[in-house]
Amino acid sequence: MRLLVVSNRLPVVLEQTDQGWHTRPGSGGLVTALAPVLSKWDGTWVGWPGVPHADDLDLDRTLAGAVMEQGYKLAPVPLTADEQRGFYEGFSNQIIWPLFHDLQSLCNFEPEYWTSYVTVNAKFADVVVRTARSGDFVWVHDYHLMGLAARLRQHLPLNRLGFFLHIPFPPPGIFCKLPWRGEVLEDLLRYDLVGFQTPRDLANFIDCVRTLLPGARKRRGPRGTVRLSHRDRTCVLGAFPIGIDFQEFADVAASAAVAERVKELRADMQGQRVVLGVDRLDYTKGIPYRLRAFQRALRRFPDLHRNVTLLQVVVPSRESVQEYQDLKAQIEQIVSQVNGEFTQPGWVPIHHVFRSVSREELVAYYRLADVALVTPLKDGMNLVAKEYCACQCDGDGVLILSEFAGSAVQLGRAAVVVNPYDLDRVAEAVHYAVSLTPQQRRPAMRKLRRNVRDHDVHRWVGAFLAAAEPADRPRADSDERASPAGRPRPREVTGVS
Ligand code: UDP
Repeated sequence: MRLLVVSNRLPVVLEQTDQGWHTRPGSGGLVTALAPVLSKWDGTWVGWPGVPHADDLDLDRTLAGAVMEQGYKLAPVPLTADEQRGFYEGFSNQIIWPLFHDLQSLCNFEPEYWTSYVTVNAKFADVVVRTARSGDFVWVHDYHLMGLAARLRQHLPLNRLGFFLHIPFPPPGIFCKLPWRGEVLEDLLRYDLVGFQTPRDLANFIDCVRTLLPGARKRRGPRGTVRLSHRDRTCVLGAFPIGIDFQEFADVAASAAVAERVKELRADMQGQRVVLGVDRLDYTKGIPYRLRAFQRALRRFPDLHRNVTLLQVVVPSRESVQEYQDLKAQIEQIVSQVNGEFTQPGWVPIHHVFRSVSREELVAYYRLADVALVTPLKDGMNLVAKEYCACQCDGDGVLILSEFAGSAVQLGRAAVVVNPYDLDRVAEAVHYAVSLTPQQRRPAMRKLRRNVRDHDVHRWVGAFLAAAEPADRPRADSDERASPAGRPRPREVTGVS
């Protein structure tokens, strides 16, 4: 059996120079985690190469070099600029992204976006069908490609198809706003395995099935999974919270280069406590609320003045979209307002970095920070929270975490958990966090780091692939095993309703 990974983007970046087209490897936890599995399984990654079709771009030749370096194959899905606009900027980012983050008022339910999504999912399916052999496992990633299984089934009857949703899944009251809700739900049930970030997302999905597909039947599956039978098929559903490459972050954090950089940064900060925010420019991250909460903290707690600085890194993203341009302007306006209100010679309360920073610089910021302020309005997981913990190799630091981040399920007990909309409580959390002593901070950080280490991204890959094994293959802790009394445990069979 081989592995095919399918995602919107290939794990490479294509660049055009005077000498022609070149590639450089993509980065990120998913690429790091999947690369060794793909190499071992003679795998292929299927995805859009990141640039629209160009006459002088021979994709197969350009990607050949990257293939040699990475040890697995790449299968590009060429898309026109129009398809990319309708499918990615339209359906994916103006409909599914805001809707699945509970922000339905930001959705643009343009019917042509749906048409484009269907066309592009069919294009992805063509490439997968051409690439896959009978028996290969196909692992599809994220909300852009929910409809792939439905388009693969008739061509790949003997392949197992898995899907993982990296973003949240909304409750029925929100999901039902989607004009194509029935199609999306039925399409997802065409996979053999669908993975969600948290038990809450899984429960929301089941509630949506209960509301929209009352004929579906639910049973308990192995290892906390659920089996859902609908029409002629059974789909396994489970929660598989994604992790980070803990060891890699911990190693970089402990390196001499980062220690040197942290020393320089500390000197620049002149003994101030540093509260850190790191986010992509996105309305789901709650940056304006966070800045307002910090402003309230400065108004209510004068002991913070000259003692605490908020270092807010915002990584540019989707800047062609109007909402994102507006958000950038709003952030700049609040930063300038707060700094205007409180700055004194020798102290600027908010340092706003609007660019992406290198991995080493980011890790140095994580180590520098006394407190991480991670307050998304809604987030599938939020890896920044986990990366911050992994980088506290001296065992110190405080994590303030939104209750609406997926990571709060795992980290909530040892973090300071807040409602990001509650400005006064967030302000109090900041004041509380910076006033903790090392003796108070360390036990919680130890728990956080252990949790992030024990549930890293490699374990996540292993858990998903194990759950994707066929149900008739014997496994150590399947639901078929005998109960303590020696009798087979009865299967729970219920209607979803
Ligand atoms: N990150 C980055 N460049 C930067 C700052 C951060 O690539 O300049 C990374 C960060 O290390 C993290 C990711 O961006 O892995 C953000 O992931 P998260 O789950 O927090 O949010 P997302 O952007 O995926 O919604």
